[in-house]
Amino acid sequence: MCGIVGYNGTMQAAPILLEGLEKLEYRGYDSSGLAIRDGAKDIEIVKAKGRLRVLAEKTDEGMALAGNCGIGHTRWATHGEPSETNAHPHVSEDRNVVGVHNGIIENYQELKEKLQRHDYTFYSETDTEIAIKLIDYYMKKYREGPVDSIARAMTRIRGSYALVVMFKDYPDEIYCARKDSPLIVGVTEDASFAASDVPAILKYTRNVYYIGNQQIARLGKGTAEFFDIDREAVEIEPSEIKWDAEAAEKGGFEHFMIKEIHEQPAAVRDTIGSLVQDGKIVYGESGLTDEIIRNTSEILIVACGSAYHVGLAAQYVFEGLARIPVRVELASEFRYRNPILNQNDLVVVISQSGETADSLAALRLAKESGIRTLGIINVVGSSIAREADHVFYTLAGPEIAVATTKAYSAQLIVAYALAIQYAYVRGQIDEDRYTAMIAEIQTLPAKMERVLDDKERIQWFAAKYSNAKDMFFIGRGIDYAISMEGSLKMKEISYVHSEAYAAGELKHGTISLVENGTLVVGVCTQNRLFEKTRSNMVEVKSRGAYLMGLTSYGNYSIEDTADFTVYVPKTDEYFMTSLAIIPLQLLGYYLSVARGLNVDKPRNLAKSVTVE
Ligand code: GLU
Repeated sequence: MCGIVGYNGTMQAAPILLEGLEKLEYRGYDSSGLAIRDGAKDIEIVKAKGRLRVLAEKTDEGMALAGNCGIGHTRWATHGEPSETNAHPHVSEDRNVVGVHNGIIENYQELKEKLQRHDYTFYSETDTEIAIKLIDYYMKKYREGPVDSIARAMTRIRGSYALVVMFKDYPDEIYCARKDSPLIVGVTEDASFAASDVPAILKYTRNVYYIGNQQIARLGKGTAEFFDIDREAVEIEPSEIKWDAEAAEKGGFEHFMIKEIHEQPAAVRDTIGSLVQDGKIVYGESGLTDEIIRNTSEILIVACGSAYHVGLAAQYVFEGLARIPVRVELASEFRYRNPILNQNDLVVVISQSGETADSLAALRLAKESGIRTLGIINVVGSSIAREADHVFYTLAGPEIAVATTKAYSAQLIVAYALAIQYAYVRGQIDEDRYTAMIAEIQTLPAKMERVLDDKERIQWFAAKYSNAKDMFFIGRGIDYAISMEGSLKMKEISYVHSEAYAAGELKHGTISLVENGTLVVGVCTQNRLFEKTRSNMVEVKSRGAYLMGLTSYGNYSIEDTADFTVYVPKTDEYFMTSLAIIPLQLLGYYLSVARGLNVDKPRNLAKSVTVE
C-alpha cells in the first residue's frame, strides 16, 4: 500500500502533490518522491527517505520545483528496503518513462530477466522499476504511443498495480493504469488529478471517476479519457463523493479496525501470491532451502501478543503435518530464561512491525548462540527483517488500528506455507496432498469474504451483550489457539475481562467462575474434537452460562447446545484459524463500538511495542 497523487493543470504542481500525499500518509510511508515537469523541459525528480516532511523540506514545500504537471508517491516498501534509491518515482534509463506504482508485481523476476536479455540494467531493488522499464521497452519496440505501450505491459504483468506515468514526448499528459490496487481520477475546469484515495483530491473536486480493473486513463489539463486493455475507448460515469475527509480516509468505514478487518481477504491473497507460484511454494529471496528444511531438528516460534497466537496455531499445523517438534515461546520470557538451543534449531520470530523490542532481543539471543533465524515480518527493512537470516514478508500493507487483524491473518498464511513446505520436503506428505493443500489455501480469501458477509448477526449479538463483564473462550487444539486470539481482541479493545481456556482444562479450576449469564464462546472447528468440546460446553451451560458456538457449516448439531451459533465455511482443518478468527474479531470490534470506546486507539496500548 502507498499513496499516489498526480496533477496536470495550470497551477504549480509540487505543492498540490505534497498536500495530497500528506492526506494519504495514513496509507503508510517509509519514503517519498516527486517528478515534476515544466513544459518540454526535462522531468525533475526529487526523493527522500523517511516521513513526507523530509521531502517537503527538501523542496521548500514544493516551491522549489517549477512546473504544472507532476506525480508524487509515498512508499510502503514491499520489494527492497526503504531508501532513497528504492523510493518512487522510477525512471527508464533515458528518462523516456517516469512513473509511480502502488502494488506488487508478482512476476517481476521473470520480467527482469526478459529485460536484461534486451540490455536493460537496474538501479533499484523494486518491482516498480521493472514495470516502468517494461513500458519503455514496448514503446521502443513497437514505436507506439503511451496507451498502447502501457496496455502491452499490462498483458505481461501479473500482480496488482496502480501506475501513474509520464512520458518524455508527451509533456502535457499523465497516464494511469490499474489492476486490483485503488486509483481514482478527478477532473476540474482546467486540471485533472489521479490519486490512490479520495482525501488527496477532496479539496478540488467531489466528482471522481473510478478507473475500472485493467483500464487505462489519459489525463489532460481538465480532461480524462479511459481505455480498456484492448485500447478501446470506454465511458466511465463520475460518482459524487459524499464523505467528509475523515470518513474518506477510512474508505467510508467508521474505524480503521473494521476497514482492516475487511482488508483481510486482500492481505491474504497478496501474501499467498508472494509465496505460491505455479501451484508450488517458492522461497523467493528468503534464502531458505530444501536442505535447511531437511536439517532442522526443532522449530522455536518466538513472538508477543497476537503474533504469539499465530505461533500457537502454527504449532499444531507444523507438528501435525510435518511431524517436526515445535516450541512456542513468549519473547519476553524466552530472552531472560537462558533457553536451551541446539545447533540445528530454527528460531522463527513473528512481528508485524519488525521492531518489537522483546522479539528483536530474542532474535539477537538466538543469533549470538549461532542458531539460524527466520522472520515473518510486515515492514520491509525493519530491524528484525534486516537481522534475521531468512525473511518472509506478510503483504498486509500498513496496519493502523492498534489491535491487529490483517497482519495476524497474513502471518498465519506464511506459517501454513512453511508448514506445508516442511511436510513435503521432509517426506511427510505426498505430492497430491501438497498440491491439494496449496490449492486449498488459495480458496481462503473468498471464504473469508463469505464470513464477512455475515457480519450483521455478530453486530446484533455484540449489541445484546455489550454489558458483559466476564467472558470465556474455550476450545481444544487449534480451537484453543483461536480462542486465545479471540479473547485478546475482547480484552484489548472492549475492556471485557476475558479468558481463553483449553476446554478440557476448565474443570481443573476455572469453571468455578462460571455463573448465571456468563458468556462462554465455544470454538469447535476440529471434527475430531467436536464432541469433546461440546461436552465441555454442556458442562458450563448447566452452570448457567450463555453459550455462543463457533463452528463450520454442516455441524448443525451444535445448536442443541449453543444459544447462538456462528458458522464459517469449511476448509482444511489446519487452516480453520483463518476463517474462525474473523467472527471473533468482529465480536470484539462491535462490542467496543457498542460500549462507545476508542476502538482504534485503546487505552494503555501502542501499535508497535519498542520497549520491553
Ligand atoms: N512494490 C512497490 C515497492 O516496493 C510499491 C510499494 C507501494 O505500494 O508503496 O516499491
